[in-house]
Amino acid sequence: MPEITPTAAPRGKTHWAVHVNHRHRSLGYAMLLVVVGLHVAPQDRSPLLWLVLVAHFAVYPQLAFWLARRAADPMAAEIRHMYLDALSLGAWIAVLHFPLWISFVMVIGCLLNLTLYRGTRGWLEALSLLAVGCALAGSITGWTLQPQTDPWVTALAIVSVSLYLFFVSLDSQKRSMRLRDTRQELQTKELALQQQLAEIQSLQTQLREQVRRDALTGLFNRHHLSDVMERELARCARDGQPLSLLMIDIDYFKRINDSYGHQVGDDVLRETARLLLERTRDSDMLFRYGGEEFLLVLVAADAVVAKAVAEELRQRYELSPLALAGRPVMATLSIGVATFADHGVDFYSLVQAADQALYRAKRAGRNRVEVA
Ligand code: GH3
Ligand code: MG
Ligand code: MG
Repeated sequence: MPEITPTAAPRGKTHWAVHVNHRHRSLGYAMLLVVVGLHVAPQDRSPLLWLVLVAHFAVYPQLAFWLARRAADPMAAEIRHMYLDALSLGAWIAVLHFPLWISFVMVIGCLLNLTLYRGTRGWLEALSLLAVGCALAGSITGWTLQPQTDPWVTALAIVSVSLYLFFVSLDSQKRSMRLRDTRQELQTKELALQQQLAEIQSLQTQLREQVRRDALTGLFNRHHLSDVMERELARCARDGQPLSLLMIDIDYFKRINDSYGHQVGDDVLRETARLLLERTRDSDMLFRYGGEEFLLVLVAADAVVAKAVAEELRQRYELSPLALAGRPVMATLSIGVATFADHGVDFYSLVQAADQALYRAKRAGRNRVEVA
């Protein structure tokens, strides 16, 4: 796979720096051609100088553009071309015999361009290359000083540098605006991403909750019971606290289903859950253990307290007609109570003990509480 550099343009698209430099170079060199031409015209210079002048100021910008577009790393190619600009313009300054305004335009253009791309380092590089170019050409063509005084050349040089500065600023402004838009777009996308993340997190929480809950009654389910109970039993053993279980079963529930239909049976289950929850404390935990069986865990309640709670629940339930779909349905509860006071007892033996007590309550005629 080819290596992708951070400055590489997408395939088939010209790098922005190549475009910007092409515009600036074409314009800058065209203006320089006019100014330099105006400066050289009255002098008796060789036709070769004119040839090189036209080749450099009119053809080179297009050649540089063509080369940079095809370069594997267009940005590096552009920097190389900027070095060449500084070196060659330094040479022109000596060849043209140091015309003040023209030299100023050339120097400022090179310094500005390399500083824009490479900061202080670029500024120093531009200055050095201008000096090298100047020294090389000066040592070949000789050191003649001919500061130009023609007002037209001066005026045109001032116009050239002003126009050049204007276009460079315009491009910088356009780029900074585009940068701002991109940053805003990024911020919006980041916000949307954060919202999606929050949604996912909330869905995960809901999902975790759904796994713990029974869909019909909304109570904790049997799956969650085993998770909680091991922890609760260990805590009670550590704190030396009792813990009681109430296994609660609706009497003759099958008859309710048979007489009123399954739908009403479901309503009775929901209503039972609501009534039981209403009479439990915050520290108690109510689970739907099976079809019409509920399990109430009473933390820090001994057998006496647990029996009293069970008795109260049973009596209140018996007295509460379950008003469902307009017709009151009467139902009763049988409850088996088991208490954890012995540290050796595990959760399943405790459930078994409560279950056996419930079985005894059923055998003894239902609508009663039995303690294991
Ligand atoms: P017992 O007094 O001995 O407890 O008698 P019962 O009829 O209450 O007990 P049994 O175990 O014979 O019947 C329980 C019924 O509960 C059978 C089943 O169809 C019903 N059941 C279980 N889950 C649901 C449920 O989610 N909705 C409804 N409507 N009925 C259910
Ligand atoms: Mg049952
Ligand atoms: Mg039952």
